[in-house]
Amino acid sequence: MRLLLVEDDVALGEGIHQALSREGYTVDWVKDGASALHALLSEVFDLAILDLGLPRLDGLEVLRRLRESGSSLPMLILTARDATEDRIAGLDAGADDYLIKPFDLSELKARLRALLRRSAGRARVMIEHAGIRLDPTTQQVSYKDDPVALTPKEYQLLYELLSPPGRVMTRERLMQLLYGWNEEAESNTLEVHIHHLRKKFSSDLIRTVRGVGYLVEDRQ
Ligand code: CA
Repeated sequence: MRLLLVEDDVALGEGIHQALSREGYTVDWVKDGASALHALLSEVFDLAILDLGLPRLDGLEVLRRLRESGSSLPMLILTARDATEDRIAGLDAGADDYLIKPFDLSELKARLRALLRRSAGRARVMIEHAGIRLDPTTQQVSYKDDPVALTPKEYQLLYELLSPPGRVMTRERLMQLLYGWNEEAESNTLEVHIHHLRKKFSSDLIRTVRGVGYLVEDRQ
């Protein structure tokens, strides 16, 4: 899960960045509207958290231009308590949800999970496939009813491959989802995570599509 955080308040941004990174999200953080729009139009994200009062380009304008470009990326806006009109304008401009500052980080996390579930179009919260049960709410994973301990990256990778199974995920897309701009990744890092997942589940869970990427077969 790769998120873009757009927040010019450094203390708040750091708090959010830390809390979400600890949850296993890949978080890229920009501090002004122009950089946000550039990132949103040129990179792949699963969701964006957008402050409205931003230098260089107003958050509402970022949102409008993104929607004009045809993007349906889930957007959560952050607004000040007394700015009712901003919230309405934000929702009208295509925001999916909003939070009023100051907010509790646990509420932010819950809203993100709900938005991500909705955008994945899953009525059921639990992902079940080939003996694996993955609960996105608690990030607990089991295999044939035994709990499996995964690192945050392994969890993310498994989640992406299972959402839903049957799609070939390219190496590039997986690397973008697992690592942001600030995280240096070794060239073989994806192979290492895949290797660990195969060991923890089964050796034929994840198929290598040579020269392209990886696939969890739809039927197993
Ligand atoms: Ca601000």
